[in-house]
Amino acid sequence: MNDNVTTIGVIGAGTMGAGIAQVAIVGGFRVLLHDTVEAALARGRSRISQGVNRAVERGHLQEEAAEEALGRLAAITRLQEMGEARFIIEAAPEDLTLKQRLFAELDGIADPGAVLATNTSSLSITAIAGATTRPMRVVGMHFFNPVPAMTLVEVVAGQRTDPGAVDETMALARRLGKTPVRAKDTPGFVVNRVARPFYLEAMRILGEGRLAHDQIDGIMKGAGRFRMGPFELMDLIGIDVNFAVSRSVYEAFFQEPRFRPHPIQQRMVESGLLGRKTGRGFYEYPNTPKG
Ligand code: NAD
Repeated sequence: MNDNVTTIGVIGAGTMGAGIAQVAIVGGFRVLLHDTVEAALARGRSRISQGVNRAVERGHLQEEAAEEALGRLAAITRLQEMGEARFIIEAAPEDLTLKQRLFAELDGIADPGAVLATNTSSLSITAIAGATTRPMRVVGMHFFNPVPAMTLVEVVAGQRTDPGAVDETMALARRLGKTPVRAKDTPGFVVNRVARPFYLEAMRILGEGRLAHDQIDGIMKGAGRFRMGPFELMDLIGIDVNFAVSRSVYEAFFQEPRFRPHPIQQRMVESGLLGRKTGRGFYEYPNTPKG
């Protein structure tokens, strides 16, 4: 059934939506990319062209193939236009109410046979699926950032997800060149649960005032052999996204103290220091276009 998928819908043209759309067009799919904010759609488009052009520069893609791939991308401002997509991946902000509203709306728009996937990092797939009349077709499909470079995808069944929808999602992930793994519908799944203390303990050390963020990153990379330190990684993810995930995992574990978010995150979100995407987070990124 999944081999029939030729058009993928992507909802949200931010960090993840743009990355997913890029991988999909390069993989030969037509992509309908939707965002409610027109400027975000334009930014997403330009990020996708930059990504595709980078692949050409690095010799991973022929120029002609890149042009064809970009021709398969359609930006849409109305969710109603998602009807022709047989596989839809939602990458809107990490907010349960917002995602439930979106899925309820999608339920009335999408083809009855379509798989409705969410890229949520931490929210309950069962809760998102519950907003639709077809929870059996709703699946978690959790990509990692940056999507073109990271091969892992966590595929998560909700309580009522049909095993067939999970198989279709596993197959589609493979067609996108990814390595899917099945994970349970528990808060943060596997990676975000294991990684929570990496960020939170680093912020607690920072909050104690003995070490600066770049010193902590330096130690983790130099002595710990991590590719990125926790603060660099939070800037890449987005401080707002990481804070939303921290809150959601904390609440989902009934306020388990190990997962308590940190006030540093909250203050940064309040002041608009969201990381790379806004040009400043824990570090500064002078070349990031603002807005
Ligand atoms: P982002 O803030 O970069 O992008 C979100 C986009 O969604 C924005 O462009 C916004 O305009 C758009 N949007 C808001 N409301 C919308 C709506 N109702 N309909 C359509 N679009 C809407 O966020 P992101 O980092 O791409 O994260 C998106 C999702 O992916 C979240 O659930 C997040 O937890 C998850 N995720 C993020 C990362 C990461 O490293 N950033 C990694 C894995 C998963």
